[in-house]
Amino acid sequence: MNNNEFSCQEMTEVVTDYLDDALPPDEQQRYERHLSYCAGCSTYLDQMRETIRHTGKVAREDSLPPALRERIVAQFRTWRRG
Ligand SMILES: [Zn+2]
Repeated sequence: MNNNEFSCQEMTEVVTDYLDDALPPDEQQRYERHLSYCAGCSTYLDQMRETIRHTGKVAREDSLPPALRERIVAQFRTWRRG
């Protein structure tokens, strides 16, 4: 095991796994070791985090179909009446 460090390209390939806590512990350590000396990948990780936080929220709101939303609202009305 000579080449035991992530390259910057590998860092971008596993960044979503890292943010999902889906990396095996040894790869997570390798990831964080690379972060400790690579400002570019640290910045990239921060931007990914922001992007996921933002798009994740948007995706959840968009994923609720209008028909379902109406049904939920109608159900609320029923409950309040009952
Ligand atoms: Zn890097």
